[in-house]
Amino acid sequence: MSGVLVIAEARQGALRDISFELITAAREISAAGSITVALIGSDPGLAAQLNATGVSEVITIASPVDHFEPHVSAAAVGRLVDELSPAVVLAGHTIDSLGFGAAVAAVKDAGFASDVTSLAWDGALTVQRGLYGDKFLQTLTFPGKETVVILVRPGTFGATSPGNGSANVRPGADVDASAVRSRHTGYREPEVGDVDITKADFLLAIGRGAGAEDESDLEPYYELAERIGATLVSSRPLVDAGLVPSARQVGQSGKTVAPKVYLALGVSGAVQHLIGMRKADTIIAVNTDPSAPIFGAAHYGSHADLSDVADALKDAFS
Ligand SMILES: Cc1cc2nc3c(=O)[nH]c(=O)nc-3n(C[C@H](O)[C@H](O)[C@H](O)COP(=O)(O)OP(=O)(O)OC[C@H]3O[C@@H](n4cnc5c(N)ncnc54)[C@H](O)[C@@H]3O)c2cc1C
Repeated sequence: MSGVLVIAEARQGALRDISFELITAAREISAAGSITVALIGSDPGLAAQLNATGVSEVITIASPVDHFEPHVSAAAVGRLVDELSPAVVLAGHTIDSLGFGAAVAAVKDAGFASDVTSLAWDGALTVQRGLYGDKFLQTLTFPGKETVVILVRPGTFGATSPGNGSANVRPGADVDASAVRSRHTGYREPEVGDVDITKADFLLAIGRGAGAEDESDLEPYYELAERIGATLVSSRPLVDAGLVPSARQVGQSGKTVAPKVYLALGVSGAVQHLIGMRKADTIIAVNTDPSAPIFGAAHYGSHADLSDVADALKDAFS
C-alpha cells in the first residue's frame, strides 16, 4: 500500500476550496507515495484545475446523478481503494465527505480519523486532532491498518494553486445507478449575510469588551473597519445578543477564517474563538486584561482600552 488518494469536492459546477487544501495536505505526506486526485460526479472539465503541482494523476468518475450523492461517492472511493491500494485517503471534514468517509473506512477495514489538523508520514501515518473544543491535542497512529481514511478540517492547510501540474488526467469507471439511494431535492443556502468573512484579508474583530448593548453601539466599529479597509467580525456573545449577524461570527460555531491580519478588540480569546482565527498570518490583540488568553495566540498585543486604540486608528486613517 502506498500513495495518497485525495477526494476532491465540487458543488454547483465549481470546485470547493477544500479540494486544493487537501492537495497541500497530501504534499505534506508525499513520502507516502504519489498523489492521485479523484473527482466524483462532477463536470470532468474541472479536472484541469486539480492538475496541480505534485499531483501524479487525476481520475474523473461519472455519476448516474447530477448532484453529490454519498452512496455514489462511497462506491467510487471504495473501488478506487481496491484499484490503487492507497496508504492514505484524504477527504474534507465537510458535510459531503462526512457522508461517506467513515462508511468507506468501515467497509474497507481501514483506519479512520475525522477533523484532522496535522499529518506526518514516517513510514506510517501519524495525525493530530483537537479534543474538547481543541483544549487537548490528540495524536493518532493506525497500527495494522494498510489504508487510513482521514477527514481534514477545512481551513487548516493553505490551498494549493489550481493547475500548473503535469498529472495524467483520465476517466475512471462510472458508478452504476444501483448505487444511488437518495434523491437531491434542491439547495437551500445558509444565511451568508452581506459578506463572506472567510475571503477577507483584514478582519477587525469586536468582542464583548466593546460593551455594546445596542446595534447602534457598533456603528463606530463598522465605520472604523471601513476606514482601515477591514471587514468587521465578532465573537459569539455579540451574535447571541442579536447585535451582529451570524455570518460575521468567528469560531467553533461560527466561521473559520485565515486572513492576513486579525485585529481583535476586547476579545478574551476563549478556545472556541481561537479555533476559528488562529490561522491568521498576523494576530493583533487589544485587551485591558494582561492575562487574557488572546495574548497567547497574538503576534502583537496591547494592554489598552480598546476605545483608545479605536480612536487612534481613526485619527491615523483619517
Ligand atoms: C459550544 C460552544 C461554542 C462556542 N462557539 C463560539 C464561537 O464560535 N465563537 C466565539 O467567539 N465564542 C464561542 N463560544 C463562546 C466562548 O466560549 C466565549 O464565551 C466567547 O468567545 C467570549 O467572547 P468575548 O471574548 O467577546 O467575551 P469575554 O470572554 O467576555 O471577553 C471580553 C474581553 O474584553 C476585555 N475587555 C473588557 N473591556 C475592555 C476594554 N475597554 N478594552 C479592551 N478590552 C476590554 C476583557 O478583559 C475580556 O478579556 C462558544 C461556546 C461554546 C460552549
